[in-house]
Amino acid sequence: MKKQKKKRKASAPARGTKPRSGKRSTQGPAARPAHAKTAGTSPERVRAILEKLDEAYPDVVCALDHENPFQLLISTILSAQCTDVRVNQVTKTLYVKYPTPKDFAYADPKELEQDIRPTGFFRNKTKSIMGASKKIVEEFGGEVPRTMEELLTLPGVARKTANVVLGTAYGIASGIVVDTHVTRLSERLDLSGNSDPKKIEQDLMKVIPQEKWILFSHQLIWHGRKVCQARKPLCADCNLEGLCYAKDKTV
Ligand code: SF4
Repeated sequence: MKKQKKKRKASAPARGTKPRSGKRSTQGPAARPAHAKTAGTSPERVRAILEKLDEAYPDVVCALDHENPFQLLISTILSAQCTDVRVNQVTKTLYVKYPTPKDFAYADPKELEQDIRPTGFFRNKTKSIMGASKKIVEEFGGEVPRTMEELLTLPGVARKTANVVLGTAYGIASGIVVDTHVTRLSERLDLSGNSDPKKIEQDLMKVIPQEKWILFSHQLIWHGRKVCQARKPLCADCNLEGLCYAKDKTV
């Protein structure tokens, strides 16, 4: 195993702040411990990761602008393959034009397609939004349901979207949001050896205490956006560096 670096790592930036550029070291990534298979999710290591995430992101929240659970549901559907910034730009006027579930449920699909076009995949998203809205109006009394089972019956809603809505809008910890950032970071931090989001979620739920599920999801998503980026993680700016033995570390 390589020697532990003495240099103290800067904490990850707070929400909304721009991370400093990571400096690439001439040394390779930290060696993966021989006992890594079990070390990855040992209670001590997981506790240390959670402490570091709490230090860097004590009170992060969902980045999608919304005023109620229904808007959060629609924004989450729109966020597939799209940045949250772009979704927020679109929904700024969208929720004025379509203020209630009924307005979406019985909208003119061609018109709605054009209204959400900048978020991409607008035809499929229109079908999902109209289908989910119709079901909410006709079967759930106009309210977004509060259980995983019911949410999963809505068109276009899978576990990721359901977890976002339950956790952020209702404060119900039914699972962990596994998006592209959580998928990548779970592998880099050796918290899951799976690539299927459903299996990753099951792995995470086994080792992360349930009371942390909601915050942990937001923390990993923010860390993935700001520091542990896909192409070039800013490891020099990462306060988890001492705990991380990812193959593609840059320090
Ligand atoms: S890969 Fe780099 S940025 Fe990502 S968690 Fe590890 S040390 Fe931090």
